[in-house]
Amino acid sequence: MNVVIFGPPGAGKGTQAHIIVKKFNLYQVSTGDLLRNEVKNQTDIGKDIENIISNGDFATDQIVNELIKKVIFEPKKKNKLIFDGYPRSLDQAKNLDLLLKDSDQKIDFIFFLNVKKDSILKRIQKRKILENRADDNLATILKRYDTYMETTKPVLDFYSKKVNFHEIDGDNEIEEISAKIEQILSV
Ligand code: AMP
Repeated sequence: MNVVIFGPPGAGKGTQAHIIVKKFNLYQVSTGDLLRNEVKNQTDIGKDIENIISNGDFATDQIVNELIKKVIFEPKKKNKLIFDGYPRSLDQAKNLDLLLKDSDQKIDFIFFLNVKKDSILKRIQKRKILENRADDNLATILKRYDTYMETTKPVLDFYSKKVNFHEIDGDNEIEEISAKIEQILSV
């Protein structure tokens, strides 16, 4: 099965994806991780996007779509993908549908982690201490939240009409959320 975990920055997408990957033997596809990897390895893409990420802006759809394409077509990952942080725009959502179709796959489950803005601000400030991410300072968090509302929210409208869409209260405890997701995935 292929799964999309969707929600605002700091909703716990990465945390939940990590838990589900282990339980269901899937591969986590985090575009944030893929992009940070490019920065770390000082690739041509990495040099272009370092400032974009630390400013809280989005990498272009073209860059992200290219990175995601490679993963989708890896044979061992076929029908074992969990997308975390992708898609983040309507263009990316449509691209994902196309790539999956071209590789004879589909999205089987979409989870929306719904989290209040207050909780997001608290969580990201905590993550800053734990992970020391360049984009986890208050000004950048606020910007990332605004970008989410502007660019990513249309993806929610697009996905919420689908039959395999599940909204989860992301303000709950980590274990409670993962139990709910597991229950749906196990049916
Ligand atoms: P994340 O680790 O998912 O919070 O992503 C960290 C940052 O990477 C984001 O704030 C964006 O700058 C960039 N990024 C991650 N995923 C995407 C995406 N799907 N489209 C555009 N930019 C992305």
